[in-house]
Amino acid sequence: MTDQFVFTPLDEIEKIYNELKVTFASGKSRPIPYRRYQLIQLAYMLKDNIKLFEDTLAADLGRPQLEARMLDIDPSLVEIKLTLSSFEKWAKQESAPFSINFSAMRPVIRKEPKGVVLIISPFNYPLFLTIPLMASAIAAGNAVIIKPSENTPATTTLLANLAEKYLDTSLIRVIKGGVTETTKLLEYTWGHILYTGGGKIGKLIAAAGAKTLSPVSLELGGKSPVFIDSKCDLKMAAKRLLWGKAANAGQTCVAPDYIIVQQDFQDKFVEALQESYREFYPDKASAPGQMSRLVSQQAFNRVNNLLKNTNGTIVIGGDTDEGTKYIGPTVVKDVKPEDCLMSEEIFGPILPIMPVNSIDEGLAYVNAHDHPLSVYVFSQDSAYKATIFDNTQSGSAMANETIIHPAVYGLPFGGTGPSGSGYHTGKYGFDMFTHLRSSLDSPGWLDMLLGFRYPPYTTAKIKA
Ligand code: NAD
Repeated sequence: MTDQFVFTPLDEIEKIYNELKVTFASGKSRPIPYRRYQLIQLAYMLKDNIKLFEDTLAADLGRPQLEARMLDIDPSLVEIKLTLSSFEKWAKQESAPFSINFSAMRPVIRKEPKGVVLIISPFNYPLFLTIPLMASAIAAGNAVIIKPSENTPATTTLLANLAEKYLDTSLIRVIKGGVTETTKLLEYTWGHILYTGGGKIGKLIAAAGAKTLSPVSLELGGKSPVFIDSKCDLKMAAKRLLWGKAANAGQTCVAPDYIIVQQDFQDKFVEALQESYREFYPDKASAPGQMSRLVSQQAFNRVNNLLKNTNGTIVIGGDTDEGTKYIGPTVVKDVKPEDCLMSEEIFGPILPIMPVNSIDEGLAYVNAHDHPLSVYVFSQDSAYKATIFDNTQSGSAMANETIIHPAVYGLPFGGTGPSGSGYHTGKYGFDMFTHLRSSLDSPGWLDMLLGFRYPPYTTAKIKA
């Protein structure tokens, strides 16, 4: 079923951008019924083709079927449905609070689309990090160009083909491309650019946005630490952490990146992880349908090199297969701050454990590095949890759970500083693509009250 991945020609990109600008200017995307219809079509695009998407996710990422459904397809459908049920309310203009001086002017905030917006998506969750964002942009009345990752060619091709079939191509288009095509797209002025991916490219996107004065939101990554308290529910912590790291082979922006644990509790925690590992993978983790694969040979080499060069002790996994880009869930203990595993976001299924002598040492380490996308803590002690949350900064702060918070409806999803700027999912996504246009309609009689503003500026007027 997988059609060949053909990049969108550069002159076609120019044509598409101009077409969308013209259609947006015509006002076609603004009426609520139009938006609703496109959102319904977006839902059908996904629902009618679940099996095809499962297949492309398997082709691109070796995705087990359960992960395809649980982490990409189903949460995308849920987001569209929730947007459908609420966007009309979000789109309603709001009155400004009452003020004796200004209320007669009937001041309101109009919720207006920003124009033609650009969504640049990464490879790791090709649907969940694309489709809910499309839903937000459409719900807000924009024209939208989506540039999914070239590293998931099967899913990107399917998305592009289905978008043509299900959606209004005069306002919603998918561009298939890599660096050259994205660079071309970034030459244009956009109502908004939303980029999800690594921070290095994020800087290029922000610089390109600055050149055209296009507003930019960045959804980036980082090393999300996990604090393990000796007063945690050990079995639960081990299970949730191992799952959060192994899911999608660790290629999750909010994956627990490394563990900070008190030195004298490390071995007990390792035993709990080993027990969970045995429970999760009664056969091999490499058995069909159990583990996603690394997305590319380059990604495999990078993560495999980290594994080869660590000075820590491998206590779980460590098994790899270059031919299938497989790396098994791996836990490495006694990892020092200067170890290669601590040098960059791992973005693979390796979980280093860095023992510390005190919680303060752990906090000092985290705070000496970039603000991560998430901070995790496993503890049954409220004071311990509060200490971690109150003394760190991150996009999100989660206790006793891993990686599922981006799908929790009503919570904004976004980073802070080096892990990103801007928020999406639900109303936050709608707001990202919405311009709050202040508006009023001032009656002539108001000059009976405000006529003093006009020149000449006399002393009598100042005294009044
Ligand atoms: P990727 O390789 O799929 O690239 C992301 C997007 O950037 C793609 O669409 C790609 O075509 C484009 N791109 C690549 N190079 C470019 C260039 N030079 N100029 C313009 N565009 C370019 O994904 P990635 O960057 O490897 O993604 C992994 C990173 O993304 C990790 O750091 C991860 O934590 C982060 N991430 C963040 C979130 C989030 O929501 N905050 C979600 C997923 C991934």
